[in-house]
Amino acid sequence: MSSSPDTRPELRAIRGMPDILPAQTPAWQHLERCVSELLGSYAYHEIRLPLLEPTELFARSIGEVTDIVEKEMYSFADRNGDSMTLRPEGTASCVRAVLQHGLLQQVPQRLWYMGPMFRYERPQMGRQRQFHQVGVETFGLEGPDIEAEHLLMTARLWRRLGVADRVRLEINSLGSTASRAAYRSALVAYLTAREAQLDDDSRRRLASNPLRILDSKNPGTQALLREAPRLTDHLDAESEAHFAGLRALLDAAGLAYTINPALVRGLDYYGRTVYEWVTESLGAQGTVCAGGRYDGLVSELGGPATPGVGFAMGIERLLLLMQAAGASTGPDNRPHAYWVVADPAAPGLALVLGEQLRDALPGLRLQLNCGGGSIKSQMKRADRSGAALALILGSDELAAGEVSVRELRLEGAMQQRVGVSAMQAFMAARFGL
Ligand code: ATP
Ligand code: MG
Repeated sequence: MSSSPDTRPELRAIRGMPDILPAQTPAWQHLERCVSELLGSYAYHEIRLPLLEPTELFARSIGEVTDIVEKEMYSFADRNGDSMTLRPEGTASCVRAVLQHGLLQQVPQRLWYMGPMFRYERPQMGRQRQFHQVGVETFGLEGPDIEAEHLLMTARLWRRLGVADRVRLEINSLGSTASRAAYRSALVAYLTAREAQLDDDSRRRLASNPLRILDSKNPGTQALLREAPRLTDHLDAESEAHFAGLRALLDAAGLAYTINPALVRGLDYYGRTVYEWVTESLGAQGTVCAGGRYDGLVSELGGPATPGVGFAMGIERLLLLMQAAGASTGPDNRPHAYWVVADPAAPGLALVLGEQLRDALPGLRLQLNCGGGSIKSQMKRADRSGAALALILGSDELAAGEVSVRELRLEGAMQQRVGVSAMQAFMAARFGL
């Protein structure tokens, strides 16, 4: 069978930047609604940030030798010759914005955002070049209670989305900048002595970003790391106390976690707490949410020394997880009723009646037949719309001042006539509006 040209367009979306089609948007809207309600209930405020920022912002915050900055950014010179980057993540922009607008004059700040991020990665399940994150950032809070709040809040979101039994929490502490540097030397010494046994990627990272070797997926490297010095054994006293404090809070709240000493995250700005919510349900792309503490970032970007804690979750991965879990994707959004307008004189009346019904019943979902057609073809459209009822306005009905109401989904239900003036009460009762 040959397909016509208009079903096989020459112009296609960029690989890894998929369209989100109408069949998928109800699940997105459900997730977005759950997120904004939940974050609102913890008194977090939404901030909306630009998609494009000066390249320097990301290079300075994420770190020059991280995967993101080395090989994943969409950067280009604009017409002025200035280097711009499509944001690969939101934390840097959020810090830039709170500094630019003086929001740190009043701390603590609890902020969140949602939207597309861009990374040049190999597209596969759970990994795209344009993907979406929900991010949360808080400023001005030093103690581990804010980390605990973030983790309890995300745990609540997992319950609300129906994926709680599919995710588990891993936490770690990276210590202070100084203790991390000491650990780094110990790790480099250990691995340099065994360099020949490292995979290529890890050998390259030995010089540039040795901590990142810890989360190498290579089995040989992993085996080597089992005997390696451990980050948790190198913590400074304050970081140790902070980490113990967080664990005590999580224990008190009954939130289960495991300590993963190899958990380091791929961004330079993290210190002390880091964590990931991981799942076994999505294959290799198993991290659905990740974050931690970044006390140095605000001053790194030119602001006053201000503690920061934040996390980001991948919306696509969450949606895949909800699908795998058979979780609800939100309330039914099919039309309650479809207007079949079968008399040439009826369209005006259907339109007016429809508007009156909408005025009286704001929750009503009503689809009007546009473009005419026989009763038969309009009834087909009514059926395809998913509506529960067809409201039929033909010549007979028009003459009698009535509407025929036909149930489309109830086996054996009779068609009935309802007076035009009784329609509002009828619809309210039928749908509990
Ligand atoms: P990964 O190890 O999977 O590459 P990451 O460490 O790069 O993740 P972060 O930068 O911390 O991830 O982003 C937070 C979350 O955003 C991830 O846990 C994931 O859910 C999601 N995410 C990151 N990159 C992508 C991508 N290319 N496609 C889809 N989701 C992504
Ligand atoms: Mg990545």
